[in-house]
Amino acid sequence: MKQYIVIGLGNFGASVAKTLVDKGYNVLAIDKNKEKVQELANTVTHAVEADATDEEVLKTLGVRNFDLAVVSIGNNIHANVLTTLLLKELGVSYVIVKAQDNLHGNLLSKVGADRIIYPERDMGVRIAHNLISSNVMDY
Ligand code: ATP
Repeated sequence: MKQYIVIGLGNFGASVAKTLVDKGYNVLAIDKNKEKVQELANTVTHAVEADATDEEVLKTLGVRNFDLAVVSIGNNIHANVLTTLLLKELGVSYVIVKAQDNLHGNLLSKVGADRIIYPERDMGVRIAHNLISSNVMDY
């Protein structure tokens, strides 16, 4: 059974975590905000209130034993990049990270992010493709 970590439980991260749990996967969810952690405490396998930029915390949580991490810290680019770097250095094999823009994405690839996502942009492309393929544009 694959083990996932989701860091940053805003709308995006919480949605990723809940969906993985619905599909039967184990999820360790981390956020530094107590309320966000409490909201998911009864849903995910483990919900932990912690600062993901603290290397000792990540070590204690045993992040190296997880197959995949999703970093969905949003507005704080420093925390987003530092968390990504630490996860890679601690040995998480696949790290997916939410980026704000191309420059941020470039930086993330330099610190070792395996996949960079731009949720709003990606969803816009997807919706446009759906519209075209379902011929909604013709109406
Ligand atoms: P969304 O659009 O997904 O709702 P957002 O892009 O607005 O989120 P933020 O709200 O800035 O992103 O961050 C998402 C979550 O990341 C927040 O719940 C915040 O508490 C958490 N977060 C920020 N920094 C850290 C950190 N260093 N360690 C753990 N969690 C953090």
